Amino acid sequence: MKKLLALTALPLLLLSLTSCEVHWFNQSYDVPWYVVALITACIIIPTILLTGHYLSQKTYRCSSCGMTFHPKWHCVIVSIHLGAKRVLRCPHCKHKGFCNPTDE
Ligand SMILES: [Zn+2]
Repeated sequence: MKKLLALTALPLLLLSLTSCEVHWFNQSYDVPWYVVALITACIIIPTILLTGHYLSQKTYRCSSCGMTFHPKWHCVIVSIHLGAKRVLRCPHCKHKGFCNPTDE
């Protein structure tokens, strides 16, 4: 469900962008919406992928069973977090709750 929400929210966000007018050396240009959307996508998509890769490399400890695990990048991107703690599902005991990152 979260993947579906994320996959539909990004295109809707990109399509909701409107065209703009750019003034460059006393000339005005109309920039169409798809150029703005393309530039925005070129910034947002690599940022999401790099952040997900970085966060998935961290080791998290389950608050229920104490086992450590590496979450998948798409799970950690959409997870609720409070500081460094993230709400993740433990792959060992299937408990879903706040997990602390470890220093391993
Ligand atoms: Zn667990």
